[in-house]
Amino acid sequence: MSQVLIVDDSRTNLALLSHLTQHVDDDIVVEATDHVDKALRWLSGNKPDLIIADYNMPDINGIEFTRQCRATPNGKDIPIVMVTSARRRKVCLEAMRAGATEFLNSPVNQDDFVARIGHLLHLRRKSLDVRERALEVQQVRRWSRQQGLMPGTPEWLKLVHVLDNVPVMLSAVSPMGQCLFVNAMQAAFFDCDPAEITGKYLSDLPDYIRNYLDSEIDAKVLSSHQTEKEFEQDLTDNEGTRHVLLTTKKPICDDQNNTIAILTTSVDITARKQAEENLLHVAEHDSLTELPNRLSLRHHMERKISNAKQKTTSFALLFIDVDRFKDINDTLGHDFGDCLLSTVAGRLDKFIAKPNFVARLGGDEFAVVISKIDNQNNVSCQAQEICDQLRAPIFLGNQEVRISVSVGIACYPHDGTTVDELLSRADLAMYRAKSDGGNGFHTANRRDHERACSKASLESDLRRAISRDQLRLYYQPKVRLRDRKLIGAEALIRWQHPDRGLVSPADFLPLAEDSGLILPIGEWVVHKACQDAGLWSQNGHHDVSVSVNISPNQFAKQLISELSASALRHSHLSPDRLVIELTEQSIMRNTQTLRDDLDALRQMGIQLSLDDFGTGYASLRYVQNFPLTELKIDRSFVKNHTVDSNDFAIVSAIIGLGKTLNLDVVAEGVETLEDANSLENAGCKSAQGYYFSPPTPLRVFNTMLDSGKTLGTTQKERCA
Ligand code: C2E
Ligand code: CA
Ligand code: CA
Repeated sequence: MSQVLIVDDSRTNLALLSHLTQHVDDDIVVEATDHVDKALRWLSGNKPDLIIADYNMPDINGIEFTRQCRATPNGKDIPIVMVTSARRRKVCLEAMRAGATEFLNSPVNQDDFVARIGHLLHLRRKSLDVRERALEVQQVRRWSRQQGLMPGTPEWLKLVHVLDNVPVMLSAVSPMGQCLFVNAMQAAFFDCDPAEITGKYLSDLPDYIRNYLDSEIDAKVLSSHQTEKEFEQDLTDNEGTRHVLLTTKKPICDDQNNTIAILTTSVDITARKQAEENLLHVAEHDSLTELPNRLSLRHHMERKISNAKQKTTSFALLFIDVDRFKDINDTLGHDFGDCLLSTVAGRLDKFIAKPNFVARLGGDEFAVVISKIDNQNNVSCQAQEICDQLRAPIFLGNQEVRISVSVGIACYPHDGTTVDELLSRADLAMYRAKSDGGNGFHTANRRDHERACSKASLESDLRRAISRDQLRLYYQPKVRLRDRKLIGAEALIRWQHPDRGLVSPADFLPLAEDSGLILPIGEWVVHKACQDAGLWSQNGHHDVSVSVNISPNQFAKQLISELSASALRHSHLSPDRLVIELTEQSIMRNTQTLRDDLDALRQMGIQLSLDDFGTGYASLRYVQNFPLTELKIDRSFVKNHTVDSNDFAIVSAIIGLGKTLNLDVVAEGVETLEDANSLENAGCKSAQGYYFSPPTPLRVFNTMLDSGKTLGTTQKERCA
């Protein structure tokens, strides 16, 4: 911005000159005054860039005014233009001697005026510039001298050597934009020598150097005289490689606290940034498929929720799970499984277009976020398309596999307003799709949710059931068919729930299996059954055995031989009075641990019974390989064996097998006298069932034992 002072006694001239002056440049401020005294007074407090004065003025003429101006500190070196009507030589000479710079004829020619005044202002600016730079160089020199650092002196060279070897980039630029110093590291970054930059003005340097050295931050440092907080700077070097620099800018001040240069210090943190980005990538991506992982999905959903909240929009989360993936993995191997998952990931990634989002949650679980949903129908269509896409045959090596998926859908905000709610609803819906046979989708709904909540509350109740003494053992008598005498009992668990009443095992054992609670529950059962049977024995019923059910999960996770040994120790029950009932499923696993466990049980003298025999896939020959002592014919065969010839054949075969392998055979679910007689006739030795007695509480069973009565009637009694 330039300031021009105009002095003319004629108000008309004053207005005209002001008007013309403002035409010279946009940023000219005019101070117009009609009296010399006023002008001199103004000059004492202001330093204009140009003065325009009329020669013909009443009290003091232009020449005298010029002389007085030159005597003031602010007016001594300012260009003064004299406007004269009579451009006489004498007047001009006198005016020049007084200090006038230029003359203009009155009346002024507009073009002439604009050109000359413009030129004078330009020169003025240049001279100010030069003067400022000279001052600056003087200041830097003075400062260096004070520090004992003159360029070229040994101290200077030593300092430069030190600065060249610090592992940071250093540079100093004067307020006028002259590069005062760059160290070797900085120059090397620009692929040049320090001498190629030092001393140059920024305007003379290539773009990529200028952009780095000259920033808005420099202007801030200059005006505040304060060090600026370090900041990250993206920079592309002359080879086009992107760098990230951590840069600090601070003022270098002289002893009067004037900023004489800006020191820029930068550390190249590209490698660190890259490592951070890699780490972030690793943290947010799945290593097998390179898809975003669960964490990334969470972040994405958090952003989606906050967006959707503001704009009151909705979106859908699709939970995708490959059907029977475990079987594929087990039969075709893990490497094959991995390839398959990569293919699924690739298909999803290709099919799901941005802004929709795909992630792998782990294992065979994937998730898709559909960004915008107009109605439920459109989400269902997309879910169906995903199912269709993934159903297409997959060729891996020379194998062709076909898979299907189950998809669960949850929508924001209908099914949940937090990430966790949506995840759990979609997961639940996926399980529903799976239990409906897989290869399809299911949309979250309130009923599923309520059922899941009730299951969760039941699980938390079950956790406390043991400590709150709510578990009970019922005993179902095992009867010798020959004389219908009680020879043992099967322990069957019940849960005495404070609100729900007596809960049957079918209603809580699956939950116990899923949650792992089956282990502490199973331990309690074995101990309690041995304890009760120990008392029967102490009361004179030495021959009465107790049977305890052990699930495949229990066998897989626990050594039943150790558990039984401990229970026998505490109860003083004779080992041959304890029968462990296992299922075909347990023995099908056929692990070494299971074999060792069963051997240990047998070595202790404990009996081993194969429960529900005939319902699983254990071949008769397979059974031979295990140290069993008893077979229990499943109740489904017993139920109709008197009327269904197939069932009768199976029952007879099992009885025959028992004889061959020297195993006791027990028939389950005997409900009628006819069943009991038929089994006895077929050679079955013992049986259980409602015909003799349902499972009963311990107290009732004890009474039954003590009474010594037979259960049901024998064939002979009936015949007699
Ligand atoms: P299971 O081992 O096959 O037990 C026999 C089931 O048949 C019992 O059902 C019993 O009440 C029932 N039952 C007995 N006689 C008859 C009959 O004449 N007709 C009919 N229709 N049913 C009869 P419950 O007590 O409901 O037990 C169901 C299953 O729960 C058991 O089947 C067993 O697999 C499991 N279970 C029970 N208690 C335990 C336990 O303490 N541990 C483990 N792991 N499983 C247990
Ligand atoms: Ca059983
Ligand atoms: Ca059974």
